[in-house]
This record gives sequence, C-alpha cells and structure tokens, in this order.
Amino acid sequence: MASNNKFRVVVVGGGPTGLTTAHALSKAGIDFVVLERRESIVEDLGASLVISPDSLRALSQLGLLERLSSISTGFRTLKTATLEGIQYGTSNALATLEESAGALLRIFHRAQLVETLYDELDDQAKARVFTNKKVVDIRSDEKGASVRCADGTVYDGSIVIGADGAHSCVRKSMRQLALKKSPTADVDPEQPWSYEYRMIFFTFPKIPELEAGSSIEAHGSDVSVQLLIADNRAWMFVYERMENPPTERVFYTQEDIGAYAAKWGHLSLTPTFKVRDAFAQRYNAGMVNLEEGMLKHYHWGRLVLVGDSAHKVTPNAGRGLNNGIQDSVALVNEIQRLLTSEGGAKAQPNLDALDVAFERYQKTRQQMFKTDLEFSGRTTRMSAWKTWFLWFVDRWFMPMLPAWAETIMVGQMLAKRMGQGLVFEFLKGEEPFQGKVPWTHPIMKKEV
Ligand SMILES: Cc1cc2nc3c(=O)[nH]c(=O)nc-3n(C[C@H](O)[C@H](O)[C@H](O)COP(=O)(O)OP(=O)(O)OC[C@H]3O[C@@H](n4cnc5c(N)ncnc54)[C@H](O)[C@@H]3O)c2cc1C
Repeated sequence: MASNNKFRVVVVGGGPTGLTTAHALSKAGIDFVVLERRESIVEDLGASLVISPDSLRALSQLGLLERLSSISTGFRTLKTATLEGIQYGTSNALATLEESAGALLRIFHRAQLVETLYDELDDQAKARVFTNKKVVDIRSDEKGASVRCADGTVYDGSIVIGADGAHSCVRKSMRQLALKKSPTADVDPEQPWSYEYRMIFFTFPKIPELEAGSSIEAHGSDVSVQLLIADNRAWMFVYERMENPPTERVFYTQEDIGAYAAKWGHLSLTPTFKVRDAFAQRYNAGMVNLEEGMLKHYHWGRLVLVGDSAHKVTPNAGRGLNNGIQDSVALVNEIQRLLTSEGGAKAQPNLDALDVAFERYQKTRQQMFKTDLEFSGRTTRMSAWKTWFLWFVDRWFMPMLPAWAETIMVGQMLAKRMGQGLVFEFLKGEEPFQGKVPWTHPIMKKEV
C-alpha cells in the first residue's frame, strides 16, 4: 500500500503536534503526508501556548529555535491575587526553572506558532501537507493502511499517526478495528475524557501598565482567572467548575461566550483591571469544556496516536502541547530506529515489529504524561479552590513559604521532570541550553 515501496506515514491532523511530527519525519528522511481537515492550517481563536525549555530543546534540533524565539516572549514572573485583585503571592518557580534548564519558558500566540511550524517546513515537506482533507475512514491490514477523506480521496501508507486532537477519528477507528477483530478486545471507552471545568479564553492588545513576560492569576472558590502578558498582546482565561458536568463534548456559540464573560466580568486581576475591561478589547475569543484523562492504549495495529488524541490536561499549567511535542520525539525515534534496524527507508516492518516499537513509545510517554496530568489537575483545583484544604494551601501556606523552600519544591518536582525531556536521537548537534540540572537525555554531539 505504501508509495514506491517506501515506508510511508500518513499523519492525520495539521495542528502543532502533527506539524512537529512532519518536521521530525522530514529530518529523518521518512516519507509522509499530513491531512488537515480545515481549509487553512492556521485558525485564530485567541489562545496562547507556553512552551517549556525541554520542548524548545527538541524544536531546536529541528532548526526552529531562532524563529520561535523571535515570535515569543520569555515568561519571568507569576503573581497571585484574590478575585478583588489584591495580590497575595509571588512565585519564584519561573526563575528556578530558568536556572535549572538554562532557559526561560516562552509565551506564544498559538496561531503564530502554528503558522511558523508550517512556514518553516522546506518546500518538499510543505508539498506533502494537504488541507480540506477531513479523514472519515481508516482501513488497516497485514500489508498496510488506507485513509479515506470526506472528498473521496484515499491515501495509502505503512502506518497512520493520529495527531487529530481530543475528538480524534484515528482513535475511533483504532477502537472499531480492535473490536471488529475481537469483540472482547480490551479497548478504551469511545469517549475517554472526564469534564469538570470549562473556560473562556481571549486575546487583547497589551496595555502599558501590564508587564510583558508576566502572569497574574486571580483565585477564588470554584473560579479562577489567568492573565498572560507578552510583548505585544495579552490573553485571559476564565475558568469555572461546572455544577453539572456533561459527559460529551459541548459546542459554544459567541452568545454563550458573551453571557459567560458578563457573568464573570466583575472579577479583578489588579484593583483597577477587571475581566470586563480586557473582554471589551478582545480580538477574538473561544469557549471550551476542559477534557482530562489519558488513554490506556496509544496504538493498535498500524495506527498510533500523538498529542491531544491520546491525552488531555487542563491548561492552567501549560502542559498539553509540551506533551504532544514529547510524543512526536519519542515516536519518531522509535520509527527511525526500527527502519534503520530493518534496512532503511524502504523497509516494511511487519505488524509484530510495529507493535514492539509502538508499545515502547507508549510506555515511555505514559510514565512522563501521568506526572503532568496529576500536576495540571492539582493546579486547576488549587487555583479555583475546590476544597478548604486547597484554599488553605494556595491562599495561606504557599505565600508564607520562604523563597528557598519554594525553590527546593520546584527543583524537586518541576525541574527534575523537565530535565527528563526527550531529544531526537538521530539528530546530532549542540545543546542549546544548559542549566543546573543535567539533561537525562543529552543531544548527541556531531563527530568532528
Ligand atoms: C486556552 C488553552 C490554552 C492552552 N495553553 C497551553 C499552553 O500554554 N501550553 C501547552 O503545552 N498546551 C496548552 N494548551 C493545550 C494545547 O492547545 C493542546 O495540547 C495542543 O493544541 C494539542 O495539539 P494537537 O496538534 O495534538 O491537537 P490540536 O491542536 O487539536 O490539532 C488537531 C488538528 O487535527 C485536525 N483534525 C481533527 N480531526 C481531523 C480529521 N478527521 N481529519 C483531518 N484533520 C483533523 C484539526 O483540525 C486540528 O488542526 C492550551 C489549550 C487551551 C484550550
């Protein structure tokens, strides 16, 4: 089924994880196509993305660091306040992370990051990215996989990578194919996510009194607000715990967004800056229920998942895409290693060999993601105080901690976790950053 007998990857989804995977496959010399449902690769709903140094390091191996640094802002300070805008906490976490990794976390406008990932593909790789290709059906057998789009076109490949987000059709196909083969197969539920929180997010012009590279969070019972400020724009996120959480996806209209903004418009980030002040200046806005969870099975047969199709976290701690990037690294490493061991780009590994490689990928990534899932869930619930205990820890215990104690805690948890970031094993070069915590997986140096 693969073209010219070459090993060929069909990537479903041209979001940030799909495009990162395209860069990696291109660098590895592996044939691929990317199929994106939308008319255009870039859709601007107004979200931001904070990328951490472990992910930036992998992106630097793809030659993207300089351009990504030029479109982003270093993230330096984090303050917490009451819903009346009275500040009660300043965190040292970002400075500790910078010292540990040798680089700052960076704040991006999501649409600009996606546009850059696409622009930076070379012409040959760009020609393999197709828009208006909504995938509706996938077949897979001993010889290969075949992907059908809503417009009737069919793409054949050796494997299919589902980078098609939280409501993945590749994930659905995986489940159906597994059950067709064995009705008693151990599969994930059709709807694998839980929902407890929802949010509106929007972007607006930077205001002089707000400091670039900083964040202010306002915390209260079952509601929280995050304000993130870059050099030339800012983003606001208003979270609320749902009284009656749905079990399925819900679509919100612009009227819903307006009503939600009106409900929480009185909340303040500073004594003089309210949610309604920012909302009135918005460029654009979105509203979503927040999925949480991790699949038990990241792969079946020739189908394998990366990014939000395999796992979801709440966005407070900014770990969603960072995990998608790490998925791409781990998976392309496995594919590249497998092809090399079987003779190169024309190898056609059988289902057993693919299963071993995909299983190893899943094991590596599930271990790492689990920590972020717990951390993100706790951050969300501690920001929108879910219990008296979390209120006490966030409002009184954390602000009382001396800086050195917070530094030790961050060093133990976050910096250690970040130090375990994966890199592309087949791309040699120099470390872009080096801080106090050594990288568990160093970038292999080029031989001279
Ligand atoms: C408000 C907000 C703020 C966030 N902030 C951060 C942050 O600071 N840091 C961070 O790491 N993460 C953050 N996240 C999470 C992050 O946005 C996601 O983890 C990330 O977008 C996942 O990328 P993805 O490519 O896996 O999936 P997606 O971004 O969902 O992309 C999937 C792509 O697949 C396409 N697609 C879907 N179905 C099909 C089909 N059938 N056929 C073809 N194409 C299809 C879609 O059109 C889309 O382009 C945030 C999320 C939100 C909502």
